[in-house]
Amino acid sequence: MLGGYESDRADPRVAMRILIIEDEPDLLNSLAMALRDEGYAVDTAANGEDGLFNAETIAYDAILLDVMLPKLDGWSVLQRLRKTRKTPVLMLTARDTSVDRVRGLDTGADDYLVKPFDLAELLARLRALIRRTSGQATTQIRSGAVILDTAARTVSHNGSPVDLTAREYVLLEFLMVHQGEVVTRTMLYEHLFDEDDSTLSNLLDVHVSNLRKKLGHEFITTRRGHGYCIERSAKTT
Ligand code: CA
Repeated sequence: MLGGYESDRADPRVAMRILIIEDEPDLLNSLAMALRDEGYAVDTAANGEDGLFNAETIAYDAILLDVMLPKLDGWSVLQRLRKTRKTPVLMLTARDTSVDRVRGLDTGADDYLVKPFDLAELLARLRALIRRTSGQATTQIRSGAVILDTAARTVSHNGSPVDLTAREYVLLEFLMVHQGEVVTRTMLYEHLFDEDDSTLSNLLDVHVSNLRKKLGHEFITTRRGHGYCIERSAKTT
């Protein structure tokens, strides 16, 4: 009866929401398309002002920020953003001078990529950036008998592989990255769905219920009125 959900998003490899601030339309579109193919939820802005507004309003998991932008340049966006948010920022710069690098690090950029760049390189840097800033030392996240591998996109329970739909995987990864914390429904909407994707928001309960069937009812706790929680795993296991 739930078979229809499998095809909703073909291959969401990561449960993360990204903002791209870039004024070259071709580059912006191709980046957005490539990141969505990788399973990211993606918002875009074509100038510094709009970008800063989005970046200050929404809790993105990472931001790709061009340096040369209309209205407000990338350095100014970064500088202002750092007053309120620590969102990881990957700067896209046209010049690979040491002056630019130093300036970016002083301003609070987390990483750099010099144009023109290889898409595979960008995706690798982005994954590394998100992993680093979310405090993950390895690609494996464990909670009790459940192990999730964010590189292989696999989940096992008591050593046996668990077959999850794309949505279930994304939801589980987000909850496990935040284990020990209460994850609110608002957080899930903000991180797992982009602005064009509202169809599945109200099915959160269904996905949680399916995960419980596959991983044990106790695995995900409902904090009534607050959200969901996966308990932090005991160190002894
Ligand atoms: Ca530019």
